[in-house]
Amino acid sequence: MNTTIPFVDLEPQYRDAGADIEAAALRVLRSRQYVLGPEVEAFEREFSTAIGTRYCVGTDSGTSALRLALQACGIGPGDEVITTPATFIATVEAIRQTGARAVLADIDPASWNLDPARVEHVLGPRSRAIIPVHLHGRSADLCAFGELCLHHGLTLVEDAAQAHLAHHGGRRCGTMGMAGCFSFYPGKNLGAAGEAGAVVTSDPEIARRVAMLRDFGSERKYEHILQGGTNARLESIQAAILRAKLPFLEGWTQDRERIALRYLEGLADLPLTLPAAVGSDRHVWHVFAVRHPRRDWLRQELAARGIETGIHYPKPVHLQPACQYLGYREGDFPHAEAYCRETLSLPLWTGMPDSVQDRVIETLESILR
Ligand SMILES: *Cc1c(COP(=O)(O)O)cnc(C)c1O
Repeated sequence: MNTTIPFVDLEPQYRDAGADIEAAALRVLRSRQYVLGPEVEAFEREFSTAIGTRYCVGTDSGTSALRLALQACGIGPGDEVITTPATFIATVEAIRQTGARAVLADIDPASWNLDPARVEHVLGPRSRAIIPVHLHGRSADLCAFGELCLHHGLTLVEDAAQAHLAHHGGRRCGTMGMAGCFSFYPGKNLGAAGEAGAVVTSDPEIARRVAMLRDFGSERKYEHILQGGTNARLESIQAAILRAKLPFLEGWTQDRERIALRYLEGLADLPLTLPAAVGSDRHVWHVFAVRHPRRDWLRQELAARGIETGIHYPKPVHLQPACQYLGYREGDFPHAEAYCRETLSLPLWTGMPDSVQDRVIETLESILR
């Protein structure tokens, strides 16, 4: 009997970085400095260097990063922020938390990312910002969004929660807008041992405001300058662990690219829709998803043969009960709805052995041929 193939396995990352992670954690425990402090400042310097921005401000999650970036850009009640229905709910929830309203536009059926042409149709007098999501680690059309924002006086904020080290047109995701928002949830391409996130920016005023907003609007203890602050501080132990893992990120990303290429080659002749080519952009394969009209059936067949899969995401945001207040209905975003019905994410992780991947490919062949 073959063992089950999981959807992700973080064990190889721990094999590479475990000794450094443990030393980092111990260093923080012994320092007795547990929130913000020198480890967080060092991580912020190192991550902004890796991404290519002047500043990085660590937060307690990717959701906080999005919310505080929007607030720092002056977004709030009465404003509209445009994003995609094919994302994790955090993107839309962060907009709601600022008091602004999320306005959705359909995805491009080829790239599965927010379609700039559809965004243009939903712009109105209250539009203030656009949040493209680099879904699965593939850059959204940042050049088009940059132009759109310039032309209409809008702010570009990137949801780069799945796109560490991705690029578009030779520039890293997270660096093209006013702010780039990252998540370091454990399963993300760079993951903490718990919750963590960051805002990157090259604008000193945005960096300063995010740093204040994450700590009740203060720069100095008990001097609260900015309204609307909260406790979204990054813990020192997470920063230290992220510092230990960051030097491995480029190699781990190259491994994801290699595995994705093996899938693209191995599955090319099967009746599946594969991710579209990215040209000279860099896709970092947070998720490797395929599409099939009978997705639920295919998922069951794989599960019956011991292969776990994921779905990112089973329901578009506008059809979630929690987002009913936005007033959308089924049929409003047909490309996103079809995507959510058909998409299936295959096992992929840094250090996934070829023999394990071959079993996934061979099993798909046996089911689909
Ligand atoms: C993970 C994720 C987030 C939220 O990040 P958290 O750290 O879980 O709060 C936001 N947007 C996208 C696209 C994500 O994948």
